[in-house]
Amino acid sequence: MKRLRKAKNCEIILNYDCNARCPFCYHSQEQIKEFSYRMPFQDVAKALYEGRKNGAFVAYLIGGETTLHPDLPKIAAFARKVGYPYIQVLSNGLKLADFKYVKKLTDSGVNLFRLSVHGPNEKIHDKLVGVEGAFRKIMKAAENIERLGAEITVNHALNKVNYKCIEDTLKLLTKKMGVSDFNIIFPHYTGTMKEHLDMLQVRVSETLPYVRSALRFLEKNKIEVENAIFINFTPCNLPEAVHLMTEWEEPQKDLRDETMYHLEGYKNRIYELAGKLRRKNRTCVKCIYNKRCLGFEKWYFEMFGGKEYRPVLKPRKQLNIKPTYRKLKEFARRLNDTTRA
Ligand code: SF4
Repeated sequence: MKRLRKAKNCEIILNYDCNARCPFCYHSQEQIKEFSYRMPFQDVAKALYEGRKNGAFVAYLIGGETTLHPDLPKIAAFARKVGYPYIQVLSNGLKLADFKYVKKLTDSGVNLFRLSVHGPNEKIHDKLVGVEGAFRKIMKAAENIERLGAEITVNHALNKVNYKCIEDTLKLLTKKMGVSDFNIIFPHYTGTMKEHLDMLQVRVSETLPYVRSALRFLEKNKIEVENAIFINFTPCNLPEAVHLMTEWEEPQKDLRDETMYHLEGYKNRIYELAGKLRRKNRTCVKCIYNKRCLGFEKWYFEMFGGKEYRPVLKPRKQLNIKPTYRKLKEFARRLNDTTRA
């Protein structure tokens, strides 16, 4: 059976507008103002069709806030029609607190909801989302999704406000919400985030003791994770958890053409874009991961330099937290069945 380590996505930015005010948004305020329209249904449909033909099996709809796109149910129904086994919507959860709306989406074919959970409690999450009551709403959204039999996955954007409570956040996700598919994303110092550095900026080395403690919690409690959980980290940050990192290296061959469709009307290959945004230190040549590693973000270097990125000289024993790759195994099984048929 074909071995996969990541699902091939067809990522589409549907819109930039948002009903939250996250100070770390990847998009800049000018971009949000300038491109204030939503991607027309015909363009989304064309991208979905092309992506599926290209072998993508997750239609990953992102924003802005996707639920503000009035055609979202119609888009999901089209994705289902062209054969995506997984239709994933990225959302801040505010509109998903409405059960009827979630039902409309699940009836249309959405079966994965990637919720943006940025803290373990109301105080931190609401502060980071810029909306009072956002934590209560996202918890209600999770309840609605579960009730309707769809799956919750989570994005957690690490920053100065929340890094010290990463362990509590993982407790909330894994114990209370029962989520096994989640991403912990180290800050991308770009977009709106650049305007809020006093509030948000943190060095990778400052976060690591807390991240390690959170990993010990997962390991000690034998908590299963579904995929690699760290994004925008490199092996030298956590040499004992390289198997839990994603997007730090060139992807396997059949994932190299994974595409992102932009609202502005262009598309690009996701990993090539990541490569352009990264850099390395001269000392990286001594690192055992050098040939595979794409390096760390230029934006980080501009802010803090590269001293924290030191070569790994020999392999380290990996933590006993093994991703299950449950959905991926199912994808592979389906692919195999299709090939045999
Ligand atoms: S190659 Fe450089 S950035 Fe990549 S893991 Fe090694 S030291 Fe870190």
